[in-house]
Amino acid sequence: MWTYNAPLRDMHFVIEEVLQAPTAWAQTPAFEDLDADTSRQILEEAGKFANGVLAPINGAADLEGCKWVDGNVTTPQGYPAAYKAYVEGGWPALACDPAYGGQGLPQLLNAALNEMIAAANHGWTMYPGLLHGAYDCIKAHGSDALKTRYLEKLTSGEWLATMNLSEPQAGSDLSQVRTKAEVGPRTDDGESWLITGSKIWISGGDQDMTDNIVHLVLCRLPDATAGNKGLSLMVAPKFLPDGSRNKIRCDGIEKKMGIKGSATSAMSFEAATGWLVGEPHKGLTAMFVMMNSARLHVAMQGLGHLEMAQQNAHAYASERVQGKINGQIGTIDQHPAVRRNLWSLRSLCEGERVIAYWTAQLLDEAHSHPDAAQRAKAEDLVALLTPVAKAFFTDNGNRGANEALQVWGGYGYVHEYGIEQTVRDSRVAMIYEGTNEIQAIDLLQRKIMADGGAKLLDLLAVLEQELEVGAGVPELNEFTNALRAQIAATREAVGALLAAREAAPDWSLRVADDFLRGLGFTLLAWAWARSARVALPQVADAWYADKVKAARFGVQWLLPEANYRWQRVMARNAVLPEIGCN
Ligand SMILES: Cc1cc2nc3c(=O)[nH]c(=O)nc-3n(C[C@H](O)[C@H](O)[C@H](O)COP(=O)(O)OP(=O)(O)OC[C@H]3O[C@@H](n4cnc5c(N)ncnc54)[C@H](O)[C@@H]3O)c2cc1C
Repeated sequence: MWTYNAPLRDMHFVIEEVLQAPTAWAQTPAFEDLDADTSRQILEEAGKFANGVLAPINGAADLEGCKWVDGNVTTPQGYPAAYKAYVEGGWPALACDPAYGGQGLPQLLNAALNEMIAAANHGWTMYPGLLHGAYDCIKAHGSDALKTRYLEKLTSGEWLATMNLSEPQAGSDLSQVRTKAEVGPRTDDGESWLITGSKIWISGGDQDMTDNIVHLVLCRLPDATAGNKGLSLMVAPKFLPDGSRNKIRCDGIEKKMGIKGSATSAMSFEAATGWLVGEPHKGLTAMFVMMNSARLHVAMQGLGHLEMAQQNAHAYASERVQGKINGQIGTIDQHPAVRRNLWSLRSLCEGERVIAYWTAQLLDEAHSHPDAAQRAKAEDLVALLTPVAKAFFTDNGNRGANEALQVWGGYGYVHEYGIEQTVRDSRVAMIYEGTNEIQAIDLLQRKIMADGGAKLLDLLAVLEQELEVGAGVPELNEFTNALRAQIAATREAVGALLAAREAAPDWSLRVADDFLRGLGFTLLAWAWARSARVALPQVADAWYADKVKAARFGVQWLLPEANYRWQRVMARNAVLPEIGCN
């Protein structure tokens, strides 16, 4: 009843036709052996894993949840076996460096894999979810000894990893982290440190899937200053290199709204042994590598939830018979109200997939393009797109799931039909890895206003190329006109905010959320225009005709939200009352 079918044809359409990735791979030495056929085979196998192994255990795991006894977590039935199959399939190694046992494939394919596994089983996906972040972080900032100790084990998936940032008093504001580290003995892996403190909400803090767990822990050294600049990053494994148990304990797990198969753990470190990753007091720089990787992963969760909701809603609506359409008893997908809901989900999903995969493709360019200037340009674009993808997709994942639930009527409220779990599971993605409000502020203040809007203008210039490519094709006018209007609105908004930087310093803070959603719609307008351009010449095939319909629906029915977002951004003088106790 609640099933997942990896949308392979949609994925191939975006990868091969919209983004023309195989052409780019052929011109990139790191990927020159990869072609469209191989990419299809890889995604087909990933789809089988998501459809056949993860999706069937999703609902039962939600009811069963995790168990904690004496510091040890037992994950739901089927989770360890699914993880074993994931490792045996070589999935953790997909985009890792061959120097550490990886397959060296593009992040683009990894993004598609992540979309599938998150859609099929978000709770389970939390366990491997931080593996690549830890890998990237140790690879970029770890000593040679730490790289030798950890990278191969993470690449193969033999060990899993966690990210230990949050403490009761330190959530969005990591400057309040209190966990401390003192100098420990010298070891084969270099100077060790003894870490003491408590962390909360640590995903996969303990589990029964791997023999060891690699904890990355944010803490303070004895000579640390207060605030963010005094933070350092340690790697502290559950079992030390000599096989003894480290002094790290899982004190309990949370009862929570969703992703019940994921053990959200309270952790204590009692003079636990760890090693510094990166330089002292530069822990946040090292941690940001992990967080950026994790943010893209979370964006894919939002997209995965939307896809899961839309495909099941379509299937249900095509079978549920209620009411008359033109005097005839019919299925509910014929009612305009339901149809509108179904097309909203589909259109959003298709546009987001283009943006998500483009971001992953740029990440590949940033790492592997032969030209240094191109690498730097791609990196700048990824930095801008990451907070938009994280916040916009996860907002839409949860909203979309909630709207999809309506298609089932009362059945939607019942566990057996699946969608109520998606509504609950998708909610957390708006909160963790930096709340969506923090993403919006990061985007507007740090990524856009700090450089006078230069990188944003570069992004808009890239989007504008679609106007040129589409020029002279009258059937594309409605798409290019919509994109042109969105680009103009984005420019106007950023220009106004920059001009008032001194006079109205808190304006950007008040409207950051609207700005991020506005920019999300600008990107969608680009994605729909680009998809329509590719699909239009092929509309004789009904499948491509549907691609154009989805893009047109997006422009006509979804883009109007952007108007009110930009309107709110521009309302400089709108009063935001203080919260008082009157
Ligand atoms: C299921 C789950 C799994 C998690 N996994 C992990 C994990 O693996 N590792 C880990 O370290 N943490 C994890 N977390 C913690 C998560 O990252 C934090 O919940 C998140 O960073 C927000 O912190 P907080 O909950 O303390 O909220 P707060 O920081 O108290 O924020 C509360 C509200 O205030 C807003 N707010 C706060 N500061 C600002 C500001 N400057 N400007 C505007 N608005 C602001 C926030 O957006 C939010 O709406 C997890 C949380 C959950 C629920």
